[in-house]
Amino acid sequence: MKVQKAHRAILIELPKDSCDVDHIKRLMALSNLAYRDYEVWATDMPKTIQHQLYGSFKNYMGSLVFGSTPKRWFAGTWVPLKVLRIYSDGSMKGDRGAPVVLEFRSDVDFKRNVIRLRQVCKNEPRHVVELPMHKWVIDRVKEGGDVKYAMIGLKNNEPYLALVAEREVVSYQPSGYILAIDINSWSHGIAWGLIRDGRIVSFKQEGLNPQRIVSLYNQAIKREKKLGALKKLGLGDETNVKSAKRMARRLRSRIYRLINEEAMFMAGKLVRKALKYKAMVVIDDVDWESLRDLLVRKYGKRVGKLLLSGLKRFVKLLVTQLQWNGAPYEFRRLPSTICPVCQHELTQEDGRVMVCENCGFKAPRDMVPMYWAIKIENTKNQIY
Ligand SMILES: [Zn+2]
Repeated sequence: MKVQKAHRAILIELPKDSCDVDHIKRLMALSNLAYRDYEVWATDMPKTIQHQLYGSFKNYMGSLVFGSTPKRWFAGTWVPLKVLRIYSDGSMKGDRGAPVVLEFRSDVDFKRNVIRLRQVCKNEPRHVVELPMHKWVIDRVKEGGDVKYAMIGLKNNEPYLALVAEREVVSYQPSGYILAIDINSWSHGIAWGLIRDGRIVSFKQEGLNPQRIVSLYNQAIKREKKLGALKKLGLGDETNVKSAKRMARRLRSRIYRLINEEAMFMAGKLVRKALKYKAMVVIDDVDWESLRDLLVRKYGKRVGKLLLSGLKRFVKLLVTQLQWNGAPYEFRRLPSTICPVCQHELTQEDGRVMVCENCGFKAPRDMVPMYWAIKIENTKNQIY
């Protein structure tokens, strides 16, 4: 049995008043250099912090899981930090001088547990920031994980702490169930089917509702236009304009939140389903380029891109959580316009029914990927 290391990560907002953004910016610049193999020692910074940068952080850069935009974040490289874990029985793990300390003072009263940041938030001697322990940490530790790594950095110029948990897992032996997940379904993006013995036991399309996103987006645009018009005319008293501005901003962040929540909800739900049935998970190996073109054509550039980022985030979260829980998975092309029986091009009839003129195969369009998952499984069984 193969033991694998799985990782999960979380971002925690840091209190702005106890963090010096410029100091973090400097640390990020130094990290960027360190990542490129340059060693630069700033004379006015404590050596302990700078030692962090030239350690082993490259080893875990690749395994970090921050949704769909890690590359952009790493452009301003996040600062890798060692983590000391102190347990309620007094035992410790990690480097005693580590800038991040997770202190579990009680196994019962979680409110007493704290996260301490030493010397990273401000360039002041013995500067410490204490945060309440995050529930995420407790949950990962309960699952047998260990929060070994941390990073600090800025996102939209706001300071954040990233924590990374590691867990050793052995994948379970699939029970015979297959959970097929299609990322390119018509109305909701995500469709899934539970398959057993070559038959679709259950099937559902759910997830992002594009119409809701479109409507929220249009509302936001309308408000922004109105705001622009008011400003041009020099009309509207200050408070009116301010509240309109706030409303427009709130709508936009609601869209992002909605997409993010939906991606998290769907990933969590499907992982639980996979675990419940000990299923082999087959995920549609999407051609993201053509999916983007499709979504942009259908919903316009802005909304199309938003939907695409939601689907990407979903896949990232799904894979991360499958790995973390030892659920076996693979990426496979699951087409909806090619016949799963004879690979002939399918013709679409009324009511989104796909028909093969070559062999007579017939199925609703959004179910065709599920038949592909069955075909893939059958082919595998023939080989062994
Ligand atoms: Zn056919």
